[in-house]
Amino acid sequence: MKPKIAVFSLTSCEGCSLAILELENQLLDILGAVEIVNFREAMTERDCDIDIGFVDGAVSTPTDVEEIKEMREHCKALVAIGACACQGGINSLKNHQNEDDYRSYVYGDGAKHFPTIKAQPISAFVEVEYELPGCPMVKEEFLALVKAVLSGQQWALPQTSVCVECKKQGNLCLYEKGIICLGPVTLAGCGAICPTFGSKCEGCRGLASDEALQAASINLREQYDIPLENILADLRFYGAYQEKSLP
Ligand code: SF4
Ligand code: SF4
Ligand code: SF4
Repeated sequence: MKPKIAVFSLTSCEGCSLAILELENQLLDILGAVEIVNFREAMTERDCDIDIGFVDGAVSTPTDVEEIKEMREHCKALVAIGACACQGGINSLKNHQNEDDYRSYVYGDGAKHFPTIKAQPISAFVEVEYELPGCPMVKEEFLALVKAVLSGQQWALPQTSVCVECKKQGNLCLYEKGIICLGPVTLAGCGAICPTFGSKCEGCRGLASDEALQAASINLREQYDIPLENILADLRFYGAYQEKSLP
């Protein structure tokens, strides 16, 4: 019998679910080996016996809390896909605002009809077997994870920072142009796509390992006289800063 996989969404733009559909031919290869039983973006059938459940979106409403617990109950393995599910993502910007202010800004007079809670990663509520960070997640990592799980192999995220990938691309560091980039404190795996195309890294993949942060702390201070704390605060944009304290 083929393993059953499902894709769910909580509070999100569902961009990470759509990224799976964008795999096209590679997705067709996977479909030969699995059965998709619940994919809101692609089909309407429901099934309650799932081997791997992929979830995008943050837990940001009381309904999300109920749904993620239900998903956990029905899935042997849960995979958080994207910054929203892994860290709270851009939803967590509201965590730094006055609740009455952002609720009336978004919902106006109808705010009382839309209950909300602090945006949090799904791991704050249930056990999660794997995380695929990024906004959106990296499609190649999704493929690699699915193949590894289906073949019983180990799978793990890289532990280095985006700077390591950036240097491999031969990019001139943006700090040399006076631009503050979050690459030194951000988990690698995206191929340093933003600095490669001239934009600073904004930390969508979350915090790098403690070891990488310690190296970043030394390099930033020695080369640019910037304390690590100054750039870590910018990681709030995707919810990573509140997840972990300084090494
Ligand atoms: S991580 Fe980004 S692309 Fe994925 S669901 Fe959240 S906002 Fe959308
Ligand atoms: S700080 Fe940014 S631009 Fe500089 S090496 Fe790291 S990722 Fe690249
Ligand atoms: S370079 Fe930074 S912001 Fe851009 S995709 Fe990679 S981790 Fe995200």
